[in-house]
Amino acid sequence: MGKNIKSVRGMHDYLPVDTVFLRKLEKVIQDVLSSYGYKEIRLPIVEKTILFERSIGEFTDVIEKEMYTFNDRHGESLTLRPEGTAGCIRALIEHGLLDQKEQRLWYIGPMFRYERPQKGRYRQFYQIGVEVFGLNGPDIDAELIVMTARWWKMLGITKYVHLELNSIGSLESRTRYKKALINFLEYHKSNLDEDCLYRLYNNPLRILDSKNPKIQLLLNNAPILKDFLDDKSTRHFKDLCTILDDLGITYTVNQKLVRGLDYYNLTVFEWITSNLGAQGTICAGGRYDGLVYQLGGQKTPALGLAIGLDRLLLLMQYIKLQKQAIQSIDIYIVIIDNNVKSAAMLIAEKLRDTIPQLKLITDFSNRNVRKQFSTAAKLGARMALIVGSDEVKEGFITIKDLHTGKQQICHQDDMPYIFKRFMKIN
Ligand code: ATP
Ligand code: MG
Repeated sequence: MGKNIKSVRGMHDYLPVDTVFLRKLEKVIQDVLSSYGYKEIRLPIVEKTILFERSIGEFTDVIEKEMYTFNDRHGESLTLRPEGTAGCIRALIEHGLLDQKEQRLWYIGPMFRYERPQKGRYRQFYQIGVEVFGLNGPDIDAELIVMTARWWKMLGITKYVHLELNSIGSLESRTRYKKALINFLEYHKSNLDEDCLYRLYNNPLRILDSKNPKIQLLLNNAPILKDFLDDKSTRHFKDLCTILDDLGITYTVNQKLVRGLDYYNLTVFEWITSNLGAQGTICAGGRYDGLVYQLGGQKTPALGLAIGLDRLLLLMQYIKLQKQAIQSIDIYIVIIDNNVKSAAMLIAEKLRDTIPQLKLITDFSNRNVRKQFSTAAKLGARMALIVGSDEVKEGFITIKDLHTGKQQICHQDDMPYIFKRFMKIN
């Protein structure tokens, strides 16, 4: 028999246990999108390579090393899409849809990047992308962010994510800033790592993103982009912040947030969670006013974002586990002898009388003690009360702390007091 064929590295299956979850999640997001007037567009997974080369930027990770590019049978270079914005713009130009004043669109589907696979980083991953065309902002920038906040609210994950915001200004202001940054970094060249040295002249802004703590320390003294923004860019950002403040959206301004693709300008933002390790960005976006023109269309202001659905799913699953832990029960009553059942129920009722918030389950399975303990552990019980006929006769009961394994015998009358103390109730 031949060896089993496995899936391609970094490309995994979503089994029914996950797809049930994913469908719910996608529905919530799509319903919110409809309520803001966004419509779906479906785009091919494969595009001509030149489309990405012309839009994403020569010296970006995606173009340099992450694309799945191949020649078709006629020798035409095609690429599995690494992102959706370029294809969306290509389609709008092709169908003349940008002649209409505004477009609010979304799409969903797989993206492909040849990256080192790890938790939350795959070679085939899924995004919901959102794109708006024909509006200058900053009101629409704010509304787009407000909509993302509504997603998190509807999904019940607001407290697990935070918003980072920045303005990377106009191309001119960025060019001036790049010069200043290069000057600064050249002065500290001996402290730069290999990656930064490589980026120094072709994409210095990406150095701000460096994960190397030594570089981050060095950057604390580097010139900051904000000081190089022209008046228009500064005003755009200030107005955006004001609207977000008015609408009660909290954010932190991260001066080093620059985004990985070259086409952004002015507003950039990321929603980050600290619960998924290094792959913490679950949604990212910004403005890209030059891109439509760059791809052959009329000058059209535009902005958009993408949710990393795989990461969002991981976060939702993490939260579900957390919630289960929070909702786990406090006390599990283990019954040694069947004839003490009603005594055990009486103990449980007395405890419920005195401490109504106590979550308590009595074992009625008639199984052996070991199995009862294993159910208690599965339910995440904090304590077990062990009820046997000898104890009941004497008026005593055994309490076992299921975290530490310690056992103590106490008088039944003392139990409410012991549990109150344990639950920190006065
Ligand atoms: P990162 O810094 O994590 O590599 P990025 O800047 O390359 O992200 P974008 O191109 O902005 O990411 O894509 C938008 C979102 O898509 C990301 O915030 C993330 O949630 C998700 N994403 C990007 N690359 C991957 C991947 N390889 N696997 C899973 N999700 C991804
Ligand atoms: Mg990336």
